[in-house]
Amino acid sequence: MNVVWGGLGGGRIEVICGPMFSGKSEELIRRLRRAIIARQRVQVFKPVVDNRYADDEVVSHSDTRLSATQAATAAAILQATHPRTEVVGIDEAQFFDCGLVDVCEQLAARGARVVVAGLDLDWRGRPFAPIPDLLAVAESVTKSQAVCMVCGAAASFSQKISGTTDTVEIGSAERYEARCRRHFEPEESRQLELSRARAAVLRVPVREEDATTAQG
Ligand SMILES: [Zn+2]
Repeated sequence: MNVVWGGLGGGRIEVICGPMFSGKSEELIRRLRRAIIARQRVQVFKPVVDNRYADDEVVSHSDTRLSATQAATAAAILQATHPRTEVVGIDEAQFFDCGLVDVCEQLAARGARVVVAGLDLDWRGRPFAPIPDLLAVAESVTKSQAVCMVCGAAASFSQKISGTTDTVEIGSAERYEARCRRHFEPEESRQLELSRARAAVLRVPVREEDATTAQG
Protein backbone atom coordinates (compact mmCIF):
# COMPACT_ATOMS: atom_id res chain seq x y z
CA MET A 1 0.00 0.00 0.00
CA ASN A 2 1.17 3.48 -0.83
CA VAL A 3 2.10 5.67 2.08
CA VAL A 4 -0.13 8.70 1.66
CA TRP A 5 -0.29 11.10 4.57
CA GLY A 6 -3.66 12.51 5.49
CA GLY A 7 -6.78 10.48 5.97
CA LEU A 8 -7.60 8.35 8.99
CA GLY A 9 -4.56 7.40 11.04
CA GLY A 10 -2.14 9.18 8.70
CA GLY A 11 -1.49 12.13 10.94
CA ARG A 12 2.04 12.97 11.94
CA ILE A 13 4.30 15.84 12.98
CA GLU A 14 7.57 16.57 11.18
CA VAL A 15 9.93 19.26 12.45
CA ILE A 16 12.73 20.87 10.46
CA CYS A 17 14.97 22.82 12.86
CA GLY A 18 18.42 24.35 12.93
CA PRO A 19 20.16 27.76 12.87
CA MET A 20 19.61 30.60 10.43
CA PHE A 21 20.81 30.00 6.85
CA SER A 22 20.52 26.21 7.22
CA GLY A 23 17.82 25.90 4.56
CA LYS A 24 14.84 25.18 6.86
CA SER A 25 12.29 27.16 4.83
CA GLU A 26 13.68 25.71 1.63
CA GLU A 27 13.22 22.16 2.97
CA LEU A 28 9.71 23.04 4.19
CA ILE A 29 8.82 24.39 0.73
CA ARG A 30 10.33 21.30 -0.93
CA ARG A 31 8.19 18.92 1.16
CA LEU A 32 5.02 20.97 0.65
CA ARG A 33 5.60 21.22 -3.12
CA ARG A 34 5.81 17.42 -3.31
CA ALA A 35 2.49 17.17 -1.47
CA ILE A 36 0.95 19.66 -3.91
CA ILE A 37 2.27 17.63 -6.86
CA ALA A 38 0.65 14.56 -5.23
CA ARG A 39 -2.64 16.56 -5.34
CA GLN A 40 -2.96 16.70 -1.58
CA ARG A 41 -4.77 19.60 0.02
CA VAL A 42 -2.07 21.81 1.53
CA GLN A 43 -2.32 24.92 3.72
CA VAL A 44 0.70 26.97 4.79
CA PHE A 45 0.92 29.32 7.77
CA LYS A 46 3.46 31.79 9.09
CA PRO A 47 3.44 34.15 12.08
CA VAL A 48 2.33 37.77 11.66
CA VAL A 49 5.70 38.93 13.00
CA ASP A 50 7.61 37.62 10.00
CA ASN A 51 7.39 40.46 7.50
CA ARG A 52 10.91 39.93 6.27
CA TYR A 53 10.08 39.21 2.66
CA ALA A 54 6.41 38.95 1.76
CA ASP A 55 3.13 39.03 3.65
CA ASP A 56 1.38 36.19 1.90
CA GLU A 57 4.28 33.90 1.11
CA VAL A 58 6.82 31.64 2.77
CA VAL A 59 10.18 32.63 1.29
CA SER A 60 13.56 30.98 1.82
CA HIS A 61 16.87 32.86 1.88
CA SER A 62 17.57 31.44 -1.57
CA ASP A 63 14.24 32.92 -2.73
CA THR A 64 12.10 29.84 -3.27
CA ARG A 65 8.54 30.75 -2.26
CA LEU A 66 5.09 29.38 -1.54
CA SER A 67 1.90 31.29 -0.71
CA ALA A 68 1.04 31.31 2.99
CA THR A 69 -1.59 32.62 5.39
CA GLN A 70 -0.48 34.81 8.28
CA ALA A 71 -1.64 33.69 11.71
CA ALA A 72 -1.44 35.86 14.83
CA THR A 73 -1.61 32.94 17.28
CA ALA A 74 -1.28 29.16 17.25
CA ALA A 75 -5.05 28.90 17.87
CA ALA A 76 -5.64 30.93 14.70
CA ILE A 77 -3.89 28.17 12.70
CA LEU A 78 -6.34 25.60 14.04
CA GLN A 79 -9.31 27.86 13.26
CA ALA A 80 -8.11 28.58 9.73
CA THR A 81 -7.31 24.96 8.82
CA HIS A 82 -10.01 23.46 6.61
CA PRO A 83 -11.30 20.06 7.88
CA ARG A 84 -10.28 18.44 4.59
CA THR A 85 -6.73 19.79 4.57
CA GLU A 86 -4.26 16.91 4.45
CA VAL A 87 -0.95 18.72 4.88
CA VAL A 88 -0.33 21.76 7.11
CA GLY A 89 2.95 23.67 6.76
CA ILE A 90 4.13 26.12 9.44
CA ASP A 91 7.19 28.33 8.93
CA GLU A 92 9.14 30.42 11.51
CA ALA A 93 7.38 28.38 14.19
CA GLN A 94 9.60 29.78 17.00
CA PHE A 95 7.57 33.01 16.79
CA PHE A 96 4.33 31.26 17.74
CA ASP A 97 3.11 30.90 21.33
CA CYS A 98 3.44 27.65 23.31
CA GLY A 99 -0.10 26.68 22.26
CA LEU A 100 1.50 25.57 18.99
CA VAL A 101 2.43 22.15 20.40
CA ASP A 102 -1.20 21.40 21.26
CA VAL A 103 -2.41 22.75 17.91
CA CYS A 104 0.03 20.51 15.97
CA GLU A 105 -1.04 17.50 18.03
CA GLN A 106 -4.72 18.22 17.41
CA LEU A 107 -4.11 18.55 13.66
CA ALA A 108 -2.12 15.29 13.60
CA ALA A 109 -4.81 13.56 15.68
CA ARG A 110 -7.39 14.38 13.05
CA GLY A 111 -5.18 12.89 10.34
CA ALA A 112 -3.16 15.81 9.02
CA ARG A 113 0.53 15.67 8.23
CA VAL A 114 2.00 18.72 9.97
CA VAL A 115 5.36 20.00 8.71
CA VAL A 116 6.93 22.64 10.95
CA ALA A 117 10.10 24.67 10.37
CA GLY A 118 11.77 26.84 13.01
CA LEU A 119 14.86 27.89 14.95
CA ASP A 120 15.71 25.43 17.73
CA LEU A 121 18.07 27.87 19.49
CA ASP A 122 17.88 31.62 20.07
CA TRP A 123 20.84 33.96 19.54
CA ARG A 124 22.10 33.19 23.06
CA GLY A 125 22.23 29.50 22.20
CA ARG A 126 19.27 28.61 24.43
CA PRO A 127 16.37 26.35 23.37
CA PHE A 128 13.78 28.50 21.61
CA ALA A 129 10.22 27.71 22.83
CA PRO A 130 7.97 26.18 21.58
CA ILE A 131 10.33 24.22 19.27
CA PRO A 132 11.93 21.99 21.99
CA ASP A 133 8.52 20.61 23.07
CA LEU A 134 7.54 20.15 19.46
CA LEU A 135 10.68 18.05 18.84
CA ALA A 136 9.65 15.75 21.67
CA VAL A 137 6.18 15.01 20.28
CA ALA A 138 7.20 14.86 16.59
CA GLU A 139 7.41 11.61 14.61
CA SER A 140 10.29 13.00 12.58
CA VAL A 141 12.97 15.61 13.34
CA THR A 142 15.40 17.00 10.79
CA LYS A 143 18.18 19.11 12.26
CA SER A 144 19.76 21.07 9.44
CA GLN A 145 23.14 22.75 9.65
CA ALA A 146 24.50 25.88 8.03
CA VAL A 147 28.13 26.82 7.29
CA CYS A 148 30.24 28.61 9.93
CA MET A 149 31.15 32.06 8.59
CA VAL A 150 34.47 31.98 10.48
CA CYS A 151 35.93 28.57 9.64
CA GLY A 152 33.61 26.89 7.14
CA ALA A 153 32.68 23.96 9.39
CA ALA A 154 29.08 22.79 9.85
CA ALA A 155 27.22 25.36 11.96
CA SER A 156 24.35 24.88 14.43
CA PHE A 157 24.28 28.33 16.06
CA SER A 158 22.93 31.74 14.99
CA GLN A 159 25.42 34.46 15.90
CA LYS A 160 23.99 37.94 16.34
CA ILE A 161 26.43 40.44 14.88
CA SER A 162 24.40 43.65 15.46
CA GLY A 163 21.03 44.87 16.71
CA THR A 164 19.22 44.73 20.03
CA THR A 165 19.14 42.11 22.80
CA ASP A 166 15.53 41.08 22.07
CA THR A 167 15.06 37.33 21.79
CA VAL A 168 12.48 37.84 19.09
CA GLU A 169 14.15 39.76 16.34
CA ILE A 170 13.57 39.33 12.67
CA GLY A 171 16.87 39.31 10.98
CA SER A 172 18.68 38.24 7.91
CA ALA A 173 22.21 38.38 6.60
CA GLU A 174 23.17 41.78 8.06
CA ARG A 175 22.25 40.87 11.66
CA TYR A 176 23.14 37.20 11.96
CA GLU A 177 25.79 34.73 10.92
CA ALA A 178 25.82 30.95 11.19
CA ARG A 179 28.59 29.73 13.52
CA CYS A 180 30.01 26.41 14.70
CA ARG A 181 30.25 25.69 18.44
CA ARG A 182 33.87 26.83 18.54
CA HIS A 183 33.14 30.22 16.99
CA PHE A 184 29.73 30.89 18.54
CA GLU A 185 29.95 33.72 21.07
CA PRO A 186 26.59 34.30 22.80
CA GLU A 187 27.48 37.24 25.07
CA GLU A 188 27.08 40.56 23.35
CA SER A 189 29.83 42.38 25.29
CA ARG A 190 32.21 39.61 24.28
CA GLN A 191 31.04 39.93 20.67
CA LEU A 192 31.96 43.64 20.62
CA GLU A 193 35.33 42.85 22.18
CA LEU A 194 36.00 40.25 19.51
CA SER A 195 35.04 42.55 16.66
CA ARG A 196 37.37 45.28 18.05
CA ALA A 197 40.17 42.73 18.39
CA ARG A 198 39.63 41.63 14.79
CA ALA A 199 39.75 45.24 13.58
CA ALA A 200 43.01 45.81 15.49
CA VAL A 201 44.62 42.73 13.95
CA LEU A 202 43.60 43.79 10.44
CA ARG A 203 45.12 47.30 10.85
CA VAL A 204 48.58 47.33 9.28
CA PRO A 205 51.12 48.82 11.73
CA VAL A 206 53.02 51.80 10.25
CA ARG A 207 56.72 51.73 11.14
CA GLU A 208 58.73 54.98 11.17
CA GLU A 209 61.41 53.84 8.70
CA ASP A 210 58.70 52.91 6.17
CA ALA A 211 57.17 56.36 6.51
CA THR A 212 60.62 57.99 5.93
CA THR A 213 61.32 55.85 2.84
CA ALA A 214 57.94 56.70 1.39
CA GLN A 215 58.59 60.44 1.82
CA GLY A 216 62.14 60.30 0.43
ZN1 LIG B 1 33.71 27.85 13.06
